Amino acid sequence: MTRRLALILAALALPCLACLGAPACAQTRTAQQQLAVDIYKELVEINTVTATGDTARAAEAMAVRLRAAGLSASDVQVFTSAPRKGNLVARLRGTGARKPILLLAHLDVVEARREDWSVDPFKLIEKDGYFYGRGTADDKFMAAAFVANLIRYLQEGYRPDRDIILALDTDEEILDRDALGIQWLLKNRRDLIDAEFALNEGGSVGLKNGKPIRNSVQTSEKVSLSYQLEVKNRGGHSSLPSKDNAIYRLAEGLARLSKFTFPFKLNETTRAYFERTAELEGEQVAADIRSVISGRPDPASLSLVRLSANPVYNAQLRTTCVATMLEGGHAYNALPQVARATVNCRIMPGEPVDEVKATLVRVLADDQIAVTQMGEPILSAPSALHGEIMGCSREALGRVLAGRADRPHHERRRDRRQLFAQCRDTDLWPFRPGRRCRRCANTRQGRTRAGEVVLRRPGISVSAGQDVVRR
Ligand SMILES: [Zn+2]
Repeated sequence: MTRRLALILAALALPCLACLGAPACAQTRTAQQQLAVDIYKELVEINTVTATGDTARAAEAMAVRLRAAGLSASDVQVFTSAPRKGNLVARLRGTGARKPILLLAHLDVVEARREDWSVDPFKLIEKDGYFYGRGTADDKFMAAAFVANLIRYLQEGYRPDRDIILALDTDEEILDRDALGIQWLLKNRRDLIDAEFALNEGGSVGLKNGKPIRNSVQTSEKVSLSYQLEVKNRGGHSSLPSKDNAIYRLAEGLARLSKFTFPFKLNETTRAYFERTAELEGEQVAADIRSVISGRPDPASLSLVRLSANPVYNAQLRTTCVATMLEGGHAYNALPQVARATVNCRIMPGEPVDEVKATLVRVLADDQIAVTQMGEPILSAPSALHGEIMGCSREALGRVLAGRADRPHHERRRDRRQLFAQCRDTDLWPFRPGRRCRRCANTRQGRTRAGEVVLRRPGISVSAGQDVVRR
């Protein structure tokens, strides 16, 4: 990571760092920090719920601030892609020595029903060192920090060696399904947002006792895919129940799923994440992490079990599938003719999607429970930063590989090929060559079919074997 980028990342954290863990901070803020909080408050208090709110208003409010700070009208524009739908693009001009960097944050928020909230969701409340309000964490703190930083750069006359582009988009929370947000910008004003790389939400600042200890950078995302589970039954009257009941069958399948965990798997990013996290954790957790990344702990090892009990670590360790919605029956006195559940899976990059469905079917262990994939997997390409984070010099790669001397030789060989391939082509996700190791064919876990390669690239859907399908 370049020093400049590190500085920008550090700067992003400023508005939060001043406050978390420091209850009296409202009194001790610098003018810059106060400005960031003011922008934050303005954004949170404009209702931008995707379906009913007004992102155009929020985009316009930010444009007013940026123009007042000195950006020309052509360098800060609001595009209203539909009524109440706004996208802002602003540009701080640098020397042009390097390609621009894009800072991306979304303005819309998910619905906030007043009855679900103990406070008004559209009022920024600061209490005990925390901020309350819809969008405070997703993603208005980031939008506010970006705007505050741009204003600060303008005030200080900072001229970076590349343009800094800010895009605040709409409809992220509904995956831009109507193409009014980032897709609208890509289609209509690509020229304005073209950049060497973008920083988007997903990483986070880690604090300990109010002090920043790490800045996470996300290189890719797990693949999100949902499945519908459905049990049908001929039904009948509740006065004459039989043992075969759609709701019970589905519930029993779900109970089996709840007890299942996918095997743990590390990739380059999560390995690096855990290696560095171990340095910041307490003794027990650090020991658990080191044990888990050291090689192959057996699935029942206490270290793995303890680490997996932490939802954040668990999500980094494996594919997860969890029930999120449930429906069944149609009358209080009728036996259910249908019961359905939605299960959302977050699949590790490098894991064939088809295998996840097969695993679900196996775990549910009931051929009356029909499992249907809902929609296409949502893929995200890995960031070009991956190479930079991993360190792609021959020496850096050598160091990474030397740290894995204790692993089986075929894994070292695979790691080597994978690391070099990823450094040559950062669009390539971790892949898994399928030939069996000749020397230890019997000991290798999770054998793959001959010729199987798992590739992830934008525009290529997920498959196994030779059937790589282009979308
Ligand atoms: Zn978000």
